Amino acid sequence: MEAFDDLLDHSDCYIEQFEHKLPHRGPAETRKCGHSACEPHTIKYYGTGDDPEAVGDYCMVCFGIYLEIWPDKTLKQSYEEKQGA
Ligand SMILES: [Zn+2]
Ligand SMILES: [Zn+2]
Repeated sequence: MEAFDDLLDHSDCYIEQFEHKLPHRGPAETRKCGHSACEPHTIKYYGTGDDPEAVGDYCMVCFGIYLEIWPDKTLKQSYEEKQGA
């Protein structure tokens, strides 16, 4: 499986432009935020109940920005560095 994934071009995953720890896996798909992200770099947002429209799959960067939850600290750091640049 791993060897197969190495052959895939992950440049279409939005997370690829940032430094990250969690490896890509599988093809990237367009998520609710409008970015393409592969499965491990996508987080499902279940909402708070008062905004059913917001429920859906988001790339890890948008999820982190909106909810300030970053499962990948390396990604968070890289994102913040790019914002500050
Ligand atoms: Zn990815
Ligand atoms: Zn996004």
